Amino acid sequence: MTAARSLKAADDLVSAGLIEPEKLASIRAVADRYAIALTPTVVSLIDRMDRQDPIARQFVPDPAELLTTPDEHADPIGDQAHSPVKGVVHRYPDRVLLKAVHICPVYCRFCFRREMVGPQGDGTLAPDELSAALAYIRGRPEIWEVILTGGDPLVLSPRRLAAIMRGLAEIPHVKIVRFHTRVPVVEPDRIDASMIAALKESGKVVYIALHANHPREMTDAARAACARLVDAGFPMVSQTVLLRGVNDDPTVLGDLMKCFVETRIKPYYLHHPDLAPGTGHFRMDIAEGQRIVSALRGNISGLCQPTYVLDIPGGHGKAVIGESAVRGDGGCYSVSDFRGEEHAYPPK
Ligand code: SF4
Repeated sequence: MTAARSLKAADDLVSAGLIEPEKLASIRAVADRYAIALTPTVVSLIDRMDRQDPIARQFVPDPAELLTTPDEHADPIGDQAHSPVKGVVHRYPDRVLLKAVHICPVYCRFCFRREMVGPQGDGTLAPDELSAALAYIRGRPEIWEVILTGGDPLVLSPRRLAAIMRGLAEIPHVKIVRFHTRVPVVEPDRIDASMIAALKESGKVVYIALHANHPREMTDAARAACARLVDAGFPMVSQTVLLRGVNDDPTVLGDLMKCFVETRIKPYYLHHPDLAPGTGHFRMDIAEGQRIVSALRGNISGLCQPTYVLDIPGGHGKAVIGESAVRGDGGCYSVSDFRGEEHAYPPK
């Protein structure tokens, strides 16, 4: 029996019944510009009877991606402006991104690095490039945290991952190594004993940030993969992108946050979608995002509250953009509760 493989071409998607044959030409045009990949796990989650399926919307290409608006940009969060050596982004004083790999097991249709990831993207760091990246980190004692992202770093083989971790082990001022990944959800079997051993290789504190956007992604297999990571001693946090037609509903978003907490994953960032090319159909106004996020307040546990953030275009870093519950100044404030009722502080 042949093992199921990932779907990576427009024609594969027609054969799998995920796009209508009449859309083939336009989806081929999308595929010429942006990478496509759906793992067997993701394909199994798609409800083909639902034309609005929130899993399909995240991974199945759409002709709407051919439309790039004037405010969209190939490098929407300004990685290039802060890249001192290949594979490193040094935007904030105490931490760097280490982009060791530029491929992913799936290609999200809203990806903020869609011009850099994929088989046609920036590739994997060659050994000398990785050495240069590690030398940059070694030479800057202010770097406390290294964030492996990309690309999805957990597509690396345990052998290559272990080599990177051994390189980081030799840098005493790096205390924290963080991974940004979708693998536990989209390819949960990769989280096995050899992967966990590789993650332990640095001897550093390792955090895993899981990217998931809809509660249906948190299958039993995904939860089990996360449990293997947490049981191995890696604290987990979440990353979610607020997406039109996927999770732009307080009930769906709240259910997702509860799934995270039940899986011992602390909700961390809720990202406003970046101005990546061909992603306008996923974006909403910030005011609408604020209303959705505010609706979580009080209605679900404080453990389940993510921080709503925007990466300011141009590489200016993240800003917290949730609605403030407090107005006023000079020691006289009005504070709104989770029902929207206003209260003076201090009370009159
Ligand atoms: S996993 Fe991350 S880097 Fe890869 S396509 Fe999705 S959003 Fe982009």
